Amino acid sequence: MSRFFTPTLAALTPYTPGEQLAVADLVKLNANENPYPPAPGVAAAVGDAVAGLRLYSDLRQTKLTEAIARRCGVPASWVLCGNGSDENLLLAIRAFCDGGTPLAFADITYSFYPVLCDLLGVPKRVVPLRGDFTLDPADYRGLGAAIVIANPNAPTSLLAPTAAVEEILQANPDRVVIVDEAYVDFAGPGASCLPLVKDHENLLVVRTFSKSRSLAGARLGFCVGQPGLIADMNRVKFSYSPYNINSMSEAAGAAAMEDEDYFRRTVAAICETRAAAAAGLRDRGWQVLDSATNFLFARPPRRPAAEILEALRRRRVLIRHFDAPRIRDWLRISIGTPAQMQRFFDALDEAEGAAPAAR
Ligand code: PMP
Repeated sequence: MSRFFTPTLAALTPYTPGEQLAVADLVKLNANENPYPPAPGVAAAVGDAVAGLRLYSDLRQTKLTEAIARRCGVPASWVLCGNGSDENLLLAIRAFCDGGTPLAFADITYSFYPVLCDLLGVPKRVVPLRGDFTLDPADYRGLGAAIVIANPNAPTSLLAPTAAVEEILQANPDRVVIVDEAYVDFAGPGASCLPLVKDHENLLVVRTFSKSRSLAGARLGFCVGQPGLIADMNRVKFSYSPYNINSMSEAAGAAAMEDEDYFRRTVAAICETRAAAAAGLRDRGWQVLDSATNFLFARPPRRPAAEILEALRRRRVLIRHFDAPRIRDWLRISIGTPAQMQRFFDALDEAEGAAPAAR
């Protein structure tokens, strides 16, 4: 830290993203990225966008916003695009929280929320999950805070029913409730809170292209809410980064959004691989939570989780461990292709010095 760094941020601990190693032959199951390439139309769309790079990008991302609005069944004025959902989370917290309006979130959830609060000077209200990592909506009454819920949650992989979210929305009519649905496309039909947006002016649904649309590197997210909320967030966006989405990413996102068939096929493949991987771990004595995401949250039966992480890392298989209370014994494993999962299990069995479990 230099002597010029502002003292108000001196205590800030930045978020630690999953590492991005440039090593050949790496099986990368540590950042919940999609193992499949973007939809086939994305490359041509990005190529076509190059000619337009001379100009600034579209301030309103008209093409992308309209593609999203069509897919979500809402008017375009209900949609805001962002530079990843991380940016939309920042815009929302900046717009709807301040010293007098804290942000409430679970003790075990996306660890970027507390970092954003610290960056923006927003007080935090941490609400513990139950012993089994499920969310009790009754805990979100009378908090006097805006709320963010990752649903399905990360890193637990668990989905709370939309009825639980609705209960929280109704108990907090004067606060914004942000539902971060980064993983909802892997959760099956009826999991999304999008249908609730129409009846709840305090609901903001945050989505991303990083997971189910294979565009993590394009940095694209969007959120859906009633036009008042979207207008508030636009005021913040136009006060700090009006051209937040670059033209190539906009083109990539629009092309990915239009290819529903590819989207369905890749999501189905990941869900199928997820079921097989969960079974493989359970056969080896692991406790595996019922995942509604593109990753598994699992507890090994014998060796400490951090040791397994290291043993796999030596074999060029990256997974994720959080050295945090309540989840120190757990590991988060992103779902890769079937071949990558085979590499994961081979490395695991080799590290454990055991023959593969009979199946
Ligand atoms: N929310 C959750 C719950 C996440 O796990 C992630 C991915 N790290 C994000 C948001 C951020 O996604 P994006 O790539 O769209 O910024």
